[in-house]
Formats: sequence, structure tokens, C-alpha cells
Amino acid sequence: MHTKGVSDGGGFHEECGVVGVYGRPEAANLAYLGLYALQHRGQEGAGIVSSDGDALINHRGLGLVADVFDGEIIRRLDGEMAIGHNRYSTAGATLLRNTQPFVVEYSLGSLAVSHNGNFVNIHELRSRLVKRGAIFQSNVDTEVLIHLIAGAQHPTLLARSIEALAEVEGAYSVIFLSENEMIAARDPHGFRPMVLGAFPAGGWVVASETCALDLVEADYVREVEPGEVLHFIDGEMHSLRPFSPTAHHACIFEYVYFSRPDSSVFGRNVYEVRKAMGRQLARESMVDADIVVPVPDSGVPAALGFAEQSKLPFEMGLIRNHYVGRTFIEPTESIRHFGVKVKLNVQRDVVAGKRVIVIDDSIVRGTTSQKIVRMIRGGGAAEVHVRISAPPTVNPCYYGVDTPTKGELVANNMDLAELREYIGADSLAYLSREGLYAFLDKPGPGFCDACFSGEYPVAVRSDQEQRQMKLFSALERAVTSRFRASGTGG
Ligand code: AMP
Repeated sequence: MHTKGVSDGGGFHEECGVVGVYGRPEAANLAYLGLYALQHRGQEGAGIVSSDGDALINHRGLGLVADVFDGEIIRRLDGEMAIGHNRYSTAGATLLRNTQPFVVEYSLGSLAVSHNGNFVNIHELRSRLVKRGAIFQSNVDTEVLIHLIAGAQHPTLLARSIEALAEVEGAYSVIFLSENEMIAARDPHGFRPMVLGAFPAGGWVVASETCALDLVEADYVREVEPGEVLHFIDGEMHSLRPFSPTAHHACIFEYVYFSRPDSSVFGRNVYEVRKAMGRQLARESMVDADIVVPVPDSGVPAALGFAEQSKLPFEMGLIRNHYVGRTFIEPTESIRHFGVKVKLNVQRDVVAGKRVIVIDDSIVRGTTSQKIVRMIRGGGAAEVHVRISAPPTVNPCYYGVDTPTKGELVANNMDLAELREYIGADSLAYLSREGLYAFLDKPGPGFCDACFSGEYPVAVRSDQEQRQMKLFSALERAVTSRFRASGTGG
């Protein structure tokens, strides 16, 4: 029982996109394709760990999936089981050791973990483990999970995983891999998405979103249910529900921004949900105008819905460069608003002389909207009206979406009129909280919208702990900020 690295580097983080393939030849290749489809969930680093039945084989690297892997590496990731992870772009230092899947040796053999989510009782668990003598290499949640599994007394990975997961509170869609089994679990609240697929020729796949199943040509079976543990062993899948059921709190921000529009998430097509949000936005905040322009790509479905409802023409007044990498050499002066210009350019012929309604999904720090409004005005627009297809983002997320501190969220620091002034728009309106749920034709499962409402379904620990969590991420951000393009991060 041992692990061997195609490249070296240990580490772990908690956000992002996860995939697991069980019982297929070339499992690592399929996991790679799954990660490719889930690239939008994390661009900072990627990794795959496979099992050849005897040992775990791993490869991780910084950057996009296509940059991290090549044919030779994939061939070396042998075996019929593999798990993969895409790391999110904006939280944590740009370090290989933060890249998952994390791989460890412990008393039962080797263990690899891919995890999406955040735990709210991380500090309690961590200090308890430290008192017992545990040594931590990072400040990220996945490491706590691994210590809990390693320290549990049960004779099987399954029992130990369940014991460890029962101790953590908060959000997880997590996949474990040992030499001969794979375990996938989703927290009882169901904060983060995870779906199950089956290959027509046999074998299974779990992934954050269905777009990953489409690319590997697996059939969508169903969501991994909140609180469900799927155990893949000896060629079979077993479903367990070891945790007490609780109200579901699917992350509404997956619909607003995070997921790919072609995915089915929490049982609904994301594109259709976003269009419904756009239609509702038009019902709530229509204004006299000539064209509806999305902020591509995330604003496109909502803008289509807005245009449909308002009967105004939908126009691509902003064009996105799809080939922007993570790093570019930025001139220190001379080009104003460089960051957003690299990604987006205005179509003067489309917007000149027009009253433009521009649709985006959120305002976080406000810099993107500010630059976009200036850009559209610079293109000769007569008026620029900003419409946001979600309520104001006023609270940080503790369940796995990277958000800045409350103080950095611009909608906390200004009222609507001040914010309109700040971004330089002729008018500004958000979708109402009730309107956000207009897509529900019938009462559906519960959602978490704490980022908008402040109603946190799982209590966040003390203020001091929250401050520590946020201070740590602020420090890490300061370190990484010079590597990042400004504006949209995902
Ligand atoms: P800002 O310039 O900080 O106001 O960023 C707003 C932009 O960031 C919007 O265009 C959103 O699509 C995008 N966005 C919203 N939430 C996130 C997130 N958690 N990570 C990365 N980008 C985001």
C-alpha cells in the first residue's frame, strides 16, 4: 500500500469542481474530461488521483486542466477508478500544496480526497485535533476531514468517513478514493451540487454538474441526495443515508452565477432558471430603453429572459475574449481599466446613440459594473441602465462560495442611489428576494440565500472565529492579488 506521484506536491482546498469515475477503463481520462467540463468552477489548479487497485497515482498542477495534463500523464494515471478536482480561482494562495485531490497515507492505506464546500465548525474541530497532537500544513477544511478519518477507530474507510462527516457542520460535496473503493457524499443540507451518472457500458460517475456527464457520455441518473453517501466497491454501488435528515438548503448562487447554464443543478436546468430570473427582473424594473445587453457570459440567459419579457431587442453590445489566460502583462500606466478591457470590449456600432439596459448577475465590489458602464458610455450609448438578476450581495458565504468580507461588499457600504452614482449608471435595480424564486412553478426544495438575506441555515461560529477566517483569506488574497486579472473572476 503506497502512493506514487507523477508530479510532487501535497495540499488541499475546499471550493470548486469535483468528479469521480468508478469501474471504467481509462478512468483518469474520463475524470480529466469531467474536469474540463467543470473548468468554470475553478481555474487555479487541477488534479487527478487514480487507483490501479494496488496504489494511488496522482498528478496535480497549477493552471487550467488543459495545461496541467497531457497524454503521457493521463496514461500514467492508470486504473479503473479516479477522482479529480478543479480549484477555484480567487481564494487561497497560488500554491501547488493547495491543489486537490489531497493524498495521504494512514493506518488503512492510502486515501485521496476531492472536496467542494466549507465547514462552519472548522475552528472547534481544528483546535480539538491540535490539542490531541495533530499537525496542520494548511488552514483549509479538507485537512480537518482527513485528520478525523485518520483518527477514527473503525476498521473501514466507509465507517470512518461517515464518522468524520457527522462531525463537520456546513457544506460538502466530497469524494474519497482508496486503493479499492470510492465514496461520494453530500451534506444533509445539500448546499453544493453533486450528480450521479452511469456509463451505458457499466461503471459510474459523480460530478458537481451534469455538463461533466455529457462530455463523458454518461447517462444522468439523479442528484446525489442531500445527506446521501454512495459507496462504490467490488463493482457495485450502495446508497446509505447515515445522517439525520434536515431541511434542504441548496445554494441559490449556483443558479445566479456559479454553475454552467447547460447543467441541470438541483434538478433544474440552469439556463432556464436564469432566463426566468431575467423575465422577473423585467417585470419588476422595466425602464424605457432601446436594447438589452448582457455582461457575457454569466449575464446572457438573464438578459435573454429580460428581452423576452420586455420585448426589447437582445444585442451583444459587449464581446468577451474567450482566450484570456490567468496572467497577462499589464502596463503600469497608459491603458485605463485594463483588467476589464482584456476580457470585454464594447461594440460601438451596437450601442451608439442607444438607451442600453445592461444585465449582470451580481455586483460584488462594484468595480466590474463601474468599468462596464464607462465602457458602454465610451461606445456612445445615450443612457446606461444597470439591472442585476439577483438581490444585492450583502453577506459573505460560509458554505463554499468565495466572497469578500461584509465590509468589502459594496452594497453594504452604499444605498441604492449611492451605488448607482458610484457605478455611473443612469439607473440601477436589483431583482427582489421574492422575485429570485419566480422560477419555482411549485414549492420546491429549500434554498440557501444567506448571501442576499443574511439568513444562515447553519449557524456560523463566533464573530471572532469569523474574523479569523476572513482575515486569513484577506491575507491570502493580498498575496495572490497581483496574479489575478481584475473584474470577473469566474
Ligand atoms: P465586482 O467587480 O467585484 O463587482 O464583481 C462582479 C462580477 O463578478 C460580476 O460580473 C459577477 O458575474 C462576478 N462574480 C460574482 N460572484 C463571483 C464569485 N463568487 N467569484 C467570481 N466572480 C463572481
